[in-house]
Amino acid sequence: MANFRSGNFYTDNEDLKFYVDKYIDWEPLVELTEFDYKAPDGFKDLDEALDVYRSILEMVGEFTANEIAPHAKKLDEEHPHLKDGIVHFPDVTDTIFEKINDLELHGLCLPRGLGGMNCPFVLFMLLNEIMARADVSITAHNGFHGGMAMAMLLFSIMEGSTEFDLDNLEIKKTRFEDAIQEIIAGKAWGSMDITEPGAGSDMAAMSTKAVKDKDGIWRVSGQKIFITSGHAKYHFVIARTEKQEDTADAFAGLKGLSMFLVKAFEDDENGNRTHYATFDSLEDKLGHHGSATVSIGYDESPAELIGKRGEGFKYMLMLMNNARVGVGFESIGIAENALRLAKEYAAERFSMGKTIDKHEMIADYLDEMQTDIQGLRALAVKSSYHEEMTQKLNLMLMFMPPADEKERKAMEREMKQHQMTSRMLTPLLKYQGAEKAIEISRRSIQIHGGYGYSTEFGAEKLLRDAMVLPIYEGTSQIQSLMAMKDNLMGILKNPKDFVASNARALWLSRSSKSRNERRVATLRVRCGRALQFLMTRLAGKKAKELRGQPFSKWSTIFQNWNPKRDFALAMLHAERLTRMLADAAICEELLRQSEQFPERAEVLERYLERAEPRSKFLISEITKTGGRLLETLEEEEEEEATEQKAS
Ligand SMILES: Cc1cc2nc3c(=O)[nH]c(=O)nc-3n(C[C@H](O)[C@H](O)[C@H](O)COP(=O)(O)OP(=O)(O)OC[C@H]3O[C@@H](n4cnc5c(N)ncnc54)[C@H](O)[C@@H]3O)c2cc1C
Repeated sequence: MANFRSGNFYTDNEDLKFYVDKYIDWEPLVELTEFDYKAPDGFKDLDEALDVYRSILEMVGEFTANEIAPHAKKLDEEHPHLKDGIVHFPDVTDTIFEKINDLELHGLCLPRGLGGMNCPFVLFMLLNEIMARADVSITAHNGFHGGMAMAMLLFSIMEGSTEFDLDNLEIKKTRFEDAIQEIIAGKAWGSMDITEPGAGSDMAAMSTKAVKDKDGIWRVSGQKIFITSGHAKYHFVIARTEKQEDTADAFAGLKGLSMFLVKAFEDDENGNRTHYATFDSLEDKLGHHGSATVSIGYDESPAELIGKRGEGFKYMLMLMNNARVGVGFESIGIAENALRLAKEYAAERFSMGKTIDKHEMIADYLDEMQTDIQGLRALAVKSSYHEEMTQKLNLMLMFMPPADEKERKAMEREMKQHQMTSRMLTPLLKYQGAEKAIEISRRSIQIHGGYGYSTEFGAEKLLRDAMVLPIYEGTSQIQSLMAMKDNLMGILKNPKDFVASNARALWLSRSSKSRNERRVATLRVRCGRALQFLMTRLAGKKAKELRGQPFSKWSTIFQNWNPKRDFALAMLHAERLTRMLADAAICEELLRQSEQFPERAEVLERYLERAEPRSKFLISEITKTGGRLLETLEEEEEEEATEQKAS
């Protein structure tokens, strides 16, 4: 079996170990997680916690290498199937999940009082990468266990239905406790039901409805499609509860959505099952075969409202933020596998008198693949860390705020800093990770030549599996629109900051004593230039309104703009800008690493060598292309409008 790797997928990965052993700033994170080491049955200090985290990484690393990776081909070939409305899995998948249950991994990040291990979410993410190196569909299904139980707890905390015993640092009661414990025990899992036949990226178009019946019970009706692990018992369903008020506003529909927890079925004590939703079909997919992708029908299914009516989008964003970071780690797992397969093959295959890894082009491929993976890992660990710090500090501020006002304010500022970083990095990670996983798996096939196109070595499976990464949890295009929007809105909200940070980057790019710092700052300067270019050329006619106006007045002027038409150039170039922003963010992080650990300068320099020409090329595309296409689109739109008026 070509994909087989006996050994340990954690201990054999020096780059990953660097983060755990040297780089991650565990102290503040573990202090928060363990309530300053006062948590019941908790660790007594950081060393003890880290020993346990390392042993979990080693255990999962070994389990993945020996109990999942050897079955990758079987997982790809033997798919789940639907019979009489029930989803059945092949033995190979069932056996793997029985073993995951035995390792008690579903409670990894849940509090000990609920039967979990109270580990940081960053650890869960690192395990995602390790598992995805063996099979990404198993990783995804696994995530819908503990990940959904965590979401139940967080949602309940957010809506105020969890009570804490602050003296003993325990949860007194939480709304979904039974479901959480069922999931931890491996007897159930959850799914996230957002997509509908007529509403994918355009979530505002969702038509699944929820209404309250005469007994005050919410009932959900509609169809959800493409739902990963959708044969679950517990479903987070987004449904419309309020009418869309302003049909001209593309985003108005989001305000009428609410979040529900729906049980698809329930078993009584005799094992008799009552169904509240139907599993209508399973997708026949290109890859990702170890997971079921289910179409679900709801017909007045009883549902529990989470939070308040109309708050659904807020809850969904929280769920999706974590899921997007998770996809970043899945991408690295696939890419790491693709690189290792390619390296091994290239070191053995002879062509024209030498092994192919010694041929310049192939050596260049392998070097770039490794560099991209290391860059992505830097971005992923950073995103995950800041997301978790945001959530944990937020909880601390809600339930155990420092008594001293100054300290509380400082904590609030710290939380906001983490939140800003996480919000900025998450779409970059989701975008860059997914796109690179595809590029790297495709290169792995190429390096295998004819054997890459055949199924023998497992290289083609990785590309098929990777193809879903830029689609689920928000497509690559939607991620880049989010990155673009956040950056433009950031400039509008605080133009002075934008000018100041550009000036600082420019100064560093010219005057820093460190050559690497000058190079990294130059990437940031180009991002600033690209953004400034897009801001000043937003739709021809409208831009006139900005001319001669100071930055500080722009936000008022923008209030009258139509995002659909006036931001056309920015939308056209969103993906290019995202690639520039991702490279700059990765290099800044690698620079930080190299300042602390000089041996990391080598990774940074390798990455810069690739990113520098890329950023020149991308800024030139942004500033020199797009005009012709936009004119055509505008003409077509005008013609359509005239035809509509005439008819
Ligand atoms: C294997 C798999 C698992 C999935 N799991 C889940 C799940 O668990 N839960 C769930 O709810 N959904 C899930 N999905 C659905 C997934 O999230 C959607 O497929 C995705 O959001 C895209 O929606 P769509 O398929 O309707 O494509 P569309 O939204 O129709 O998009 C088609 C193309 O147009 C592009 N596009 C759309 N709007 C714009 C725009 N404004 N600007 C530029 N480009 C645009 C998109 O990026 C895409 O390339 C899954 C899908 C797959 C394939």
